[in-house]
Amino acid sequence: MVKIPNTFGMDVRTKVWAEYHSVDELRTLLSRYRGEQMMAVGAGSNLLFTGDYDGVLLHSAMRDTQVVSQTDTTIDIEAQAGLVMDDLVAQTVAQGLWGLENLSYIPGEVGASAVQNVGAYGVEAKDVIIAVKTIAIADGNERVFSNAECHYGYRDSIFKNQLKGQYIVTSVIYRLSKTPKPVLDYGHLRAVTGDTPTPQQVREAVTTIRRQKLPEVNEIGSAGSFFKNPVVPTEQFQALLAQYPTMPHFAVEGGVKIPAAWLIEQCGWKGKRLGGAQVYDKQPLVLVNADQATPQDVMTLAEQICQSVKTRFNITINPEVNYI
Ligand SMILES: Cc1cc2nc3c(=O)[nH]c(=O)nc-3n(C[C@H](O)[C@H](O)[C@H](O)COP(=O)(O)OP(=O)(O)OC[C@H]3O[C@@H](n4cnc5c(N)ncnc54)[C@H](O)[C@@H]3O)c2cc1C
Repeated sequence: MVKIPNTFGMDVRTKVWAEYHSVDELRTLLSRYRGEQMMAVGAGSNLLFTGDYDGVLLHSAMRDTQVVSQTDTTIDIEAQAGLVMDDLVAQTVAQGLWGLENLSYIPGEVGASAVQNVGAYGVEAKDVIIAVKTIAIADGNERVFSNAECHYGYRDSIFKNQLKGQYIVTSVIYRLSKTPKPVLDYGHLRAVTGDTPTPQQVREAVTTIRRQKLPEVNEIGSAGSFFKNPVVPTEQFQALLAQYPTMPHFAVEGGVKIPAAWLIEQCGWKGKRLGGAQVYDKQPLVLVNADQATPQDVMTLAEQICQSVKTRFNITINPEVNYI
């Protein structure tokens, strides 16, 4: 059994860890292990393995980028799935291109970012993705998904729902802008960058803020935000607001989004510990591996948090982290 890399720092193993350096090599692996349980993984920064994996984990070692087309104002860049997402952001920002700068310092790789629709500071991957190239696990055939075909939603895509476990992302094509397109209205970004920053200045501001709020993956184990922010119907929100006038909220399609971090903090969980797992004291949305946590510690802590939020607010919060 081979140890599975994962940012939570869980001691979990897989029967086979298979890394491929070309699409042909991926197809060979798919044929070789046909009939076995198989799954694509990136850096393991959004995964909670609940135990050892009795199958084959496939990981891309393809990390190139290439320009596929451009106009006076835009440039389409294809990045291979195994490239570290933050390296791609650093490369594009260094060229003065706009689009990825708000996604600075998010752990993980390009392939997963298109599956997860990663987002931060008012930007989501779906805002810049124009196509996702994949290989079908069933027959090794290539299928290219347009942005619309990916059915993107909040930390969601077709690859997490209808087509879960069926396609391996091999590369992602992004359309970036050569002309300024700053998105600064989220958090305190504009206060740090001013109104006319360069992409590099936005990247630096985002990175600095994230470092203050989130645990560094090589210091404290975590998978980032453990829960998604819930969206509640407007009537339920009005009733809650009457009871909790300071409750933060954002109007979104289909209702009102309430920060899960606020709900969790109100329930008294900030800094609380269960076995080796803990609610991060600087950001209660994050569960951390404080001291040799087991998957069971994390799952029990997460369950208890969900239950107490449900009991107090009648709101269901769901994990953002993928349980395997
Ligand atoms: C400290 C910290 C901060 C974070 N902050 C943010 C944030 O601000 N915003 C945000 O959105 N996320 C955030 N995350 C979560 C995480 O960074 C993202 O979900 C990231 O996209 C995961 O990338 P990964 O390569 O580690 O994927 P993994 O965790 O290995 O996999 C995630 C999912 O993608 C699938 N997958 C991976 N690669 C492929 C592929 N090539 N083809 C098909 N499926 C694939 C896996 O099967 C799995 O379902 C944070 C995590 C941490 C630890």
